[in-house]
Amino acid sequence: MAALGNAKTRAEEVVARCKRLASFSEDPGSTRRTFLSPAMHECHRELTKWLEDVGAEVTVDAAGNLRGFYASAQSGAPRLLLGSHLDTIPNAGAYDGVLGVVLGVGLLEALEGRRLPFGLEVVGFSEEEGVRFGTPFIGSRALVGGLDEELLNRRDVNGISVRGAIEGFGLNAAEVPRAVLADDALAFLEFHIEQGPVLESLGLPLGVVEAIAAQIRMEFVFQGRANHAGTTPMHLRHDALAAAAEWIVAVERTAHTQPGLVATVAQIEAKPGAVNVIAGEARVTLDLRHESDALCARTAEVIVQLAEEIVERRGLKLRQSVLLNQKRVAMDALLVGQIEEALRGIGCAPHRMVSGAGHDAMILAEKVPSAMIFLRSPGGISHDPAESVQVEDVAKALQCGQHLLDQLASSSELQKRMCRA
Ligand SMILES: [Zn+2]
Repeated sequence: MAALGNAKTRAEEVVARCKRLASFSEDPGSTRRTFLSPAMHECHRELTKWLEDVGAEVTVDAAGNLRGFYASAQSGAPRLLLGSHLDTIPNAGAYDGVLGVVLGVGLLEALEGRRLPFGLEVVGFSEEEGVRFGTPFIGSRALVGGLDEELLNRRDVNGISVRGAIEGFGLNAAEVPRAVLADDALAFLEFHIEQGPVLESLGLPLGVVEAIAAQIRMEFVFQGRANHAGTTPMHLRHDALAAAAEWIVAVERTAHTQPGLVATVAQIEAKPGAVNVIAGEARVTLDLRHESDALCARTAEVIVQLAEEIVERRGLKLRQSVLLNQKRVAMDALLVGQIEEALRGIGCAPHRMVSGAGHDAMILAEKVPSAMIFLRSPGGISHDPAESVQVEDVAKALQCGQHLLDQLASSSELQKRMCRA
């Protein structure tokens, strides 16, 4: 176990490296690094240097994921994956995704040449944000065999396909199946900034993610009757926008009735959209999330009923459709328990939380035991250049990671149980 003073120095280095990687961008003056853009070459070059310096063997798989393998002392040993994504949104901060990869490098360095009973693979996923192709998780999907023909043929705004982007980066799309995790994958661990205000409000540096929330996205169309805004008395109107507005407030009220439930209406389109015409149609979206699939589904029903009551009373019609029904993804219980133990070991309260946002660990969980550790986001700010982390929290994350690796290394029973999971 490295001394605590070391962790602080390493944490400062981790933060400096994240800032350095943020300078590799498609846009001058701000960070934007989408799937296999030229800036990703520079990002890979830098990470490769750090990984090779610590004795890892670096490759880039056919989906553009950077993979640095730090071998075990024993041949044929399983491997533990550590990582997150290297792509960013436009005008990004320096830590979303990148921090999880750079922390992986920091954990290899903290071993100071020591080898574990399992190998460690640091993964920098090529794509998570969905910016370039309008669909997220291209990198992590390749590891679970989900980068299929349909996805490879998807095109960006310039007409370049995922396959074309892969070839353009100097990789061979025919080798995508070789990116899939082999049977030796023990588990996946992802460090990520929380991107929300919860840990800060609790005064905690770290949290352990026990699940990624269930999510339902719907579209509602309120159909009323367009008419003259000057000549139609109030009691004879069928105003679609007023109905939608009443419903939006009811949705907000409903979300307040259950702890952990979040409901958002963020898009609205009214037709015909003229200042002197009563809206004949209002189209609105709903984004609903909770850790429980059942509660999410039940709430969606309640929200549909609310809309039905409103249109009935106002003499309107309603159409609704489900755009996405993503079930809750549980993180691996054994790994979550081990992270809690590691947190207690470094004097941190082991706070469990549910991630409201999707992450690479959600995809990897299809194939290997997966878990996440969140780092406090100052001000809850993310997806913005003001995104930050505290060096002290990064030091805690490194210590937690070291504890966890030691726990797993000292228990062959634990490794066996994870391999069977
Ligand atoms: Zn992210």
